[in-house]
Amino acid sequence: MSGDLRERQKSMSLPPPQVSLHTAMDGKYKDITEELLARSLVDGEVRSAPYEFPEDTPIEQLEEKRHRLERQISQDIRLEPEILLRAKQDFLKTDSTADLQSLREKDEVMVDHHELQEKETVIERQFQRVTISGEEKCGVPFSDLADSAVCIIKALFIRQKYMCVSMQDFCSTTSRLLQQLSHTHTQHCSFNKDMPDSGDAPVPPPVSETHPYEGQEFTILPPDLGYSCSIEHGFVHVYTSPTHSTELDLPYPDLQEFITDMNFMMALIINGPVKSFCYRRLQYLSSKFQMHILLNEMKELAAQKQVPHRDFYNIRKVDTHIHASSCMNQKHLLRFIKRAMKKYPDEVVHMEGGRGQTLTEVFHNMNLTAYDLSVDTLDMHADRNTFHRFDKFNSKYNPIGESILREIFIKTDNHIQGKYFAHIVKEVMSDLEESKYQNAELRLSVYGRSRDEWDKLAEWAVTHSVYSHNVRWLIQIPRLYDVYRSKRQLMNFQQMLENIFLPLFEATISPNTHPKLHLFLQHVVGFDSVDDESKPEHHVFSLYSPRPDNWTEEENPPYSYYLYYTYANMTVLNHLRRRRGFNTFVLRPHCGEAGPVHHLVSGFMLSANISHGLMLRKVPVLQYLYYLAQVGIAMSPLSNNSLFLSYHRNPLYEYLSRGLMVSLSTDDPLQFHFTKEPLMEEYSIAAQVWKLSSCDMCELARNSVLMSGFSHKVKISWLGAGYMREGPDGNEIRRSNVPDIRLAFRHETLCDELQLIIQAAHIQGAGPEEETPPSMGP
Ligand SMILES: [Zn+2]
Repeated sequence: MSGDLRERQKSMSLPPPQVSLHTAMDGKYKDITEELLARSLVDGEVRSAPYEFPEDTPIEQLEEKRHRLERQISQDIRLEPEILLRAKQDFLKTDSTADLQSLREKDEVMVDHHELQEKETVIERQFQRVTISGEEKCGVPFSDLADSAVCIIKALFIRQKYMCVSMQDFCSTTSRLLQQLSHTHTQHCSFNKDMPDSGDAPVPPPVSETHPYEGQEFTILPPDLGYSCSIEHGFVHVYTSPTHSTELDLPYPDLQEFITDMNFMMALIINGPVKSFCYRRLQYLSSKFQMHILLNEMKELAAQKQVPHRDFYNIRKVDTHIHASSCMNQKHLLRFIKRAMKKYPDEVVHMEGGRGQTLTEVFHNMNLTAYDLSVDTLDMHADRNTFHRFDKFNSKYNPIGESILREIFIKTDNHIQGKYFAHIVKEVMSDLEESKYQNAELRLSVYGRSRDEWDKLAEWAVTHSVYSHNVRWLIQIPRLYDVYRSKRQLMNFQQMLENIFLPLFEATISPNTHPKLHLFLQHVVGFDSVDDESKPEHHVFSLYSPRPDNWTEEENPPYSYYLYYTYANMTVLNHLRRRRGFNTFVLRPHCGEAGPVHHLVSGFMLSANISHGLMLRKVPVLQYLYYLAQVGIAMSPLSNNSLFLSYHRNPLYEYLSRGLMVSLSTDDPLQFHFTKEPLMEEYSIAAQVWKLSSCDMCELARNSVLMSGFSHKVKISWLGAGYMREGPDGNEIRRSNVPDIRLAFRHETLCDELQLIIQAAHIQGAGPEEETPPSMGP
């Protein structure tokens, strides 16, 4: 059976990369990776790790460099007085709407002269561009450029492959340009083309007033398919009959291929020439943005001023990373506890030694009255003592340091069926609805300890009507196998996967067996993987790692192992759900908050977008790749400031200026924020510390909508019908308040970068090889 299965898995494996790209590193990946991983096990604190670029340029030097560059440019301009004059005029003139209007008219006159030119030309005239010319303009020797380009393209193809098979999005601009390297076939994913909208169908349109959980009779559920499913070697398999005789043809990722791809990526991030190439490109991107701002800031501002009604306060923003159990601020929780003590003093909330305890008794045992309670006694805020102490931070989740209060007030599964928690989450939801423009993707936990967790969670959401148009759910899976194993709740890792995924397959095959879960899943957008990333890992994920059913030791599997098996089962599930016209899921793990950088490699390969990504600042190759593939990064500088990285050292602004797809999120308002609007607090502090312009803030907000799991329809109503188009064509400033100029700059810069490496790869002769046509599954 197992040999048979192995064959079958191979035949359904992911397609090979479209272009076979040979590099000097070929054949050495495995050794390099093993060496690198082994080092990360021994020494987490290497001063300059092999993937880092030696940072010997303090801020002053960088500043000086920038000034020198600016001086140089102004000198160049002096040589051409006409250009200078015009640039200066434009620069000074466009700070009022009237001026912008006159500029527009001037543009239109110009356009009349060139009637053949299209809309693109109009946009082109609207801002000052910086262009670089000359040979070897990228700043590294051509041979280095060519070799780096080939490697980078190969890495992008790897991500594209994994995104495509799992039905997650891959940046359309990058995808379009990569097609130049494949004349015969379009690498574009066939899976995502078929049904772009139908998965959204069950989600009510944003204007709907109906509550999806109320008045549900559960009689009009989709029919039972009569399939059956079981888990083998860590993968869920689906059979078209109850006897498991015929298996449904679904794509299963191949482990060997994954490990090969991962080894390639690991070798890539420490390759010297690639490293310096990427470092230089990132520096260039920063400088280019500075120049853009220098020349166009006033125009951007003027464009924003010209939009009636819209401003930063009334554009849509999504809190792309926030945990449900800490989505309320501390004052809110305190008030809620006091209110509950008054309102339900005699409610039995907890079982102690077989006997029920009322809320009054619980507090009596702690020697506390409602009057005694304050934010200080609650003691849930992160403070200077939690910095670099994730263990201390975790205990902050317990009100007054008492785990019993956490169980009563912020759990979905307790003696009162999560009643209080449902109430408080609904209060947070109604605050969001009141503010109208703020939305959140709350994370709820599924631990994988028992098979009924999903049903209990759905029961909680549906019976308490915990739903809001402003909120979508993400399911976070804590990496706590070792804990459950040592308590003997689980005997191997496969049982954890089984508890997490089998109920989802059952609910997809026959919704009537899990009616509430079926309903709840319509508002779940994806999976998250959570835990302290800085915890040491003692195992290297390789072909020799035990399979999940053989992972019986008490040791915790490494991060990449968790991510791979979550990804693999999610992929199969997505295909099954797409066939039924149900919504599909994405992977959005916590990744690169701390700990080893290979987490970011797994994140790049497998996930739609990530949370934190702080470690990218140390790995230029990965940072450049995250840029080229426009992988979303939900950043929470206030959270980082309390745990891992001081605010002023946070790389958010650097990422933003380079054009990475970043958004702002709160992580845990209960621990980090002080006001009723934690997301606005986050924006406000970022704006003040980094002196963000209104345009920067609106760009961040727009990114948050794009990254979020809200449906296509919702995004259309928030950003405009053409939001999926590339560059300024996809922008509606009346909705996003982001000037076309900014998006044109971003789009052109990304295209330039991609063209640079694609051309270099062409010249290198690493063009398409025809012998490997893609086989994108069924
Ligand atoms: Zn988090």
